[in-house]
Amino acid sequence: MLRTFAYVRAGSLDDALKQLDAASSRAHAGGTDLLGCLRDGAMTADTVVSIGHLADLKGIAPTPDGGLRLGALTTIAEIAGHAVIKDKYSALSQAAAVVASPQLRNQGTIGGNLCQRPRCWYFRGDYECSRKGGDICYAADGENQYHAIFGGSLCHIVHPSDTAPALVALGASVRVAGPKGARVVPLETFFVLPDVDVQKETVLGQGEIVTDVLLPPADPGLKSSYRKVRARGSWDFALAGVALAIAMKGDRVDKARVVLSGVAPIPWRSTGVERAILGQKLDARTLSRAADAAVAGAEPLAQNGYKVPLVRGVVEEALGAYMP
Ligand SMILES: Cc1cc2nc3c(=O)[nH]c(=O)nc-3n(C[C@H](O)[C@H](O)[C@H](O)COP(=O)(O)OP(=O)(O)OC[C@H]3O[C@@H](n4cnc5c(N)ncnc54)[C@H](O)[C@@H]3O)c2cc1C
Repeated sequence: MLRTFAYVRAGSLDDALKQLDAASSRAHAGGTDLLGCLRDGAMTADTVVSIGHLADLKGIAPTPDGGLRLGALTTIAEIAGHAVIKDKYSALSQAAAVVASPQLRNQGTIGGNLCQRPRCWYFRGDYECSRKGGDICYAADGENQYHAIFGGSLCHIVHPSDTAPALVALGASVRVAGPKGARVVPLETFFVLPDVDVQKETVLGQGEIVTDVLLPPADPGLKSSYRKVRARGSWDFALAGVALAIAMKGDRVDKARVVLSGVAPIPWRSTGVERAILGQKLDARTLSRAADAAVAGAEPLAQNGYKVPLVRGVVEEALGAYMP
């Protein structure tokens, strides 16, 4: 049941930050995730603060350093269809295109996509799990077919976002505003593992919101992609996926960032795969080694062992697209 809350439309960013400076306030952008969480009791709010019409948080524009700034309220559909993003930041465009359904892509924002809460059925259900302040991760010995094979520990959620792994692969940052001012956080350090804080998914403090996503200048030699495997062809979260950003020098890999989705509580940077391909020709042997490296250290639960060969396969297949 949806509990009663006050609804406030912030008139400016400053106004929003003042309204959000209370532990029981929640930011509302597109509302596609927040309202479900409130209805399911996974989150509570005395005040919901709408930031959805703040002009400062809208728009896609070049930055002085040659990168791109996406306002936090940019919709997923705008990102998927944007010509410069398609051309220069393909992984992000491809990831945005496979988020949920057209309706959700039109309503959901990039800020909300990065800050959405986990989809674990225990977290969303009537369970006082560790992420909600309880003592137990019910997925550890329960229904865990969609859960993490890396980084689980106190809680075994997987991070639900498709855009986050693509943005981490592309070296993006977020600008954050809050009661103590503004700061820029590299997305690679934005997400939080359960053994750091089991009740949070990001480093955002009380009252802080994401105002912008900042993409670095596109490296002309860098190619990027996002491949997602899901149970159904239509809207569904990733069972496993991989974002790649790769630059070649001649026939060898010169730069590589590899980030897995659907397998860990945060977008999971696979430095093992990066090491396996850096300086190498992308031939069948390298791909096979990279696939082995992708699953090294995996700790599957009772029902999600299928993710191990799935990750192997998706990494091998995605890298194969970069073969000469
Ligand atoms: C059926 C369904 C299928 C989905 N499938 C996918 C999928 O395949 N892949 C995928 O990536 N996502 C998927 N999603 C998630 C969807 O993309 C997100 O719900 C959406 O992007 C959230 O954006 P929003 O603007 O609606 O956020 P809201 O619902 O408004 O907010 C979500 C959360 O983020 C916080 N928040 C919002 N904006 C900010 C901000 N600027 N700064 C700080 N905190 C903020 C809110 O307080 C809230 O906790 C799915 C959702 C549904 C309902």
